[in-house]
Order: sequence, then structure tokens, then C-alpha cells
Amino acid sequence: MTARMRLHPEAIGVGMTSQRVRDRLIERLRDNGIADERVLNAVRTVPRHLFVDEALATRAYEDTALPIGHGQTISQPWVVAKMTEALFANGAQPKKVLEVGTGSGYQAAILAALGLEVHTVERIGELLRTARKRFRALGFNIRSKHDDGRIGWPENGPFDGIVVTAAAPALVDALTAQLAPGGTLVAPVGGSGAQSLLCLRRDADGVVDQANLAPVVFVPLLSGLVD
Ligand code: SAH
Repeated sequence: MTARMRLHPEAIGVGMTSQRVRDRLIERLRDNGIADERVLNAVRTVPRHLFVDEALATRAYEDTALPIGHGQTISQPWVVAKMTEALFANGAQPKKVLEVGTGSGYQAAILAALGLEVHTVERIGELLRTARKRFRALGFNIRSKHDDGRIGWPENGPFDGIVVTAAAPALVDALTAQLAPGGTLVAPVGGSGAQSLLCLRRDADGVVDQANLAPVVFVPLLSGLVD
């Protein structure tokens, strides 16, 4: 057996998590309309394979949602990129953002990689604890709390951007109320099965603009805390 054959594929850079595989995902996102280079760069640098179970790591750079336990999923990279890009649309320069539904922590990490001050809320304690370990291991300084994200985080608002990563039948007023003037909220809205990814931007007087970005499928936004 040659030395090369004894090396783990990761070590010689041909593994399913290698930079080449990650770059292929970036090209795919670009082909599917993600144009903001800052966002593409964040997706390129944040190691998505560390946000899923080791058994799924080889699939981490496919453009697909993957299970993270507790019946939840890490969002599809295209959806993460689309939501993130929406916060920067029209020359917006967000600083402080809120995510509802930490899950694996991947979306929060992407936002932090863009230099944003990230707040994230998760109702399932075990998912939050695992996400916090990832933030620490990767050096991300992200504020998080175990709570029902439908109330937002009023003490720390208002936010320049709010990203809701679980679907509700309608926009949640308490969250819209925590948007700063000029801020953008992105949220999947609709019943189980399929939803619309809504984007709304508000100015000092209220909502000025609402757009439907894409059809999406998210897990539901639920009430009540789970350990
Ligand atoms: N942004 C996540 C996606 C996770 S899936 C990621 O990048 O991995 C959606 C998450 O929202 C789940 O973890 C689910 O537990 C959480 N969630 C659902 N309803 C919630 C609520 N009311 N408050 C906070 N989190 C909620």
C-alpha cells in the first residue's frame, strides 16, 4: 500500500468536504441567481459539514436541506443565501440582526461571518446547546437564547434584519415591530407543505415594500419550549 492510499481522503483534499466540493456549491448558487459576492464568500468559508452529524458530512455541500434531529432540518444553502442576500438588498448596511430558529446554527454562522452582530433564538434546548458548541469551536461571537422566538428579543432590538427560519401561517406582528427603520424581515409564510418566502422592508412610517422571493418548504414555527 502506498502512503497516499493510507491517507484519509480529507487529508489529500479530495474528500466530499474539500474546497473543490465547496466551490462547486458556490457555482451552483451563482447559477441559481445568488449574486452578492459577500454572501457567496460567507457560504464558501463557513464549514457546513460541521453543522450536521458526521454521518451526513459527505452531503453537506449538496444544495439540499438535511436532518439535524428532533424532526428539524438545516436549511438548503440556496435558501440560506437568498435570505441573507435579502438583508443587503438595495444598498442596505445592516449591523444588528435577529434569527428565529437557531437549529444547527448554520444560518447564524453565515450572518456572523458577514460581520453582523447576530442574535438567535431557539425553542429546542438540545439543538441550541449543540449550536453554541459549534459557535465556540469556530470562534463566532453570537448571542443566543432558549425561548419562543415569536416574541423576538425586544430588549436587544430594534434589528436591521430579522430572519425567520420556521414557517408561520402569517407574518408575526411582534417581530415586524422589532424591525429598525430601513430594516428587512425575511420569513417563510404559509401552511405545512409549501410556503412563500416573504421579504418586507420598513421605514419610519411602517411597511413600505413587500415581495415574494420564492416558494419554499420550512418546518413549522411552534410554541412552547423543549429541553
Ligand atoms: N436556521 C436553522 C434552520 C433550523 S430549522 C439552521 O440554519 O440550521 C428551524 C428551527 O426553528 C428548528 O430548530 C426549530 O426548533 C426552530 N423553531 C421552531 N419554532 C420556533 C420558535 N417559536 N422559536 C424559536 N425557534 C423555533
